[in-house]
Amino acid sequence: MRIETDLKLGFKDVMFRPKRSTLKSRAQVDLKRTFRLMHTDTEWTGIPIMAANMDTVGTFEMAATLAEHNLFTAIHKHYTAEEWRTFIASAPKGIENHIAVSTGTGEADFKKLITIKNENPQLRFICIDVANGYSEHFVTFLKKTREQFSDKVIIAGNVVTGEMVEELLLAGADIVKVGIGPGSVCTTRVKTGVGYPQLSAIIECADAAHGLGGQIISDGGCATPGDVSKAFGAGADFVMLGGMLAGHDESGGETIERDGKTYRQFYGMSSSTAMNKHAGGVANYRASEGKTVEVPYRGAVEHTLSDILGGVRSTCTYVGAATLKELTKRTTFIRVAEQENRVYT
Ligand code: 5GP
Repeated sequence: MRIETDLKLGFKDVMFRPKRSTLKSRAQVDLKRTFRLMHTDTEWTGIPIMAANMDTVGTFEMAATLAEHNLFTAIHKHYTAEEWRTFIASAPKGIENHIAVSTGTGEADFKKLITIKNENPQLRFICIDVANGYSEHFVTFLKKTREQFSDKVIIAGNVVTGEMVEELLLAGADIVKVGIGPGSVCTTRVKTGVGYPQLSAIIECADAAHGLGGQIISDGGCATPGDVSKAFGAGADFVMLGGMLAGHDESGGETIERDGKTYRQFYGMSSSTAMNKHAGGVANYRASEGKTVEVPYRGAVEHTLSDILGGVRSTCTYVGAATLKELTKRTTFIRVAEQENRVYT
C-alpha cells in the first residue's frame, strides 16, 4: 500500500486572483476556440461547452438550441437509428459540427454506431463513454473504433490521470473525457471510494494531452458558472455539463407537478432509474452508482446559457484574458478556505 501525500484540489478549493486588465467590457471577450484534432488533421471551431451524454441532458432538443449558440451536445446513446434518421432530416445545417453520437462498448453498441454512421455519413464526432476508462476492453474497443472510422473525431473517457490520457490518445482518441466521481448525480465516490478531485485531474490530464497534441474535456462537478471558468483556467479545452443544464424545456426526464410547483426528473446514467429504463433493472453484480433527483423547472435553456457564458466572459475580464484561449495563461489560482457568503442562501 502506498499513499500519495500531495494535496489534490477541487473547484471549491481555489479562486482566481484578479489581475490588471485593459479590457473595458466583457462583451469584448471571445469565447470561441479553434482546435486541431490530432488523428483526423481537421479543425473544430466553436464555444467549447458541451451538454453531457445523459438521457436527461444530451437530447436532440438540447442539441438544436446549443448548436444555435455555437455550443456542443454529446447526444445520449439511447436514441434508435430511426430516431437519428428523423432528427438529422430536419436538423439545421452544420449540426454535425455540434453533436457527437455516443456509444457504449458492447457488440450491440458497435453495430448501432455503424448503422447510424452509415445512414448519416456527415456526422463527425463519436463519443465512447464508460464509467471506468481504465479497462483493457475499453482500450481495445477504442482501437477498433479508430480503425473503422479513420476520418471521424473520437472522444473517449472517463479517466483522471495523465498516463491513461496518453494511452487513450495513442489508441485513437482525439479528445479525452476527464472525471471520475465529481458529477452532481454520481455516487461512485460513496459506493467505491474511488475518485480524483476535479481541478487537479484537469491540470494533470491537460498537461499530458497537450504534450501529445490532444485535447481534454472536463466532465462533471461544475455547479456554477464560476466552476466552468475554473475548469477552463485549469487547462480544460472543453467543459461538459450535466446538472447545470437539467430541468429545462430542452432536457429529458419526466415532468412532475407538486404543490403548484413544477420539477423535472434528473438522474445518473448508472442510477437505478436509468438501468430500469434501459437495461431492464439493476444487474445483481453491481450497485447503482447514480442518484435520481427532481430539479425545479427552469424554462428555456437559453437563459441559463447566457448566465454561464456571461460568467465565463466576466472571469476573463477580471484576469485580463481577451479570448478564452488566453484564460489558462492568465490564471493564477489561490488556495482558499472559503467560497461565497451564504447568509442569504
Ligand atoms: P454534472 O455536470 O451533473 O456534475 O456531471 C455530469 C457527469 O456526471 C456526466 O457527464 C457523467 O460523466 C457523470 N455521470 C452521469 N451519470 C452518472 C452516474 O450514474 N454515475 C456516475 N458515477 N457518474 C455519472
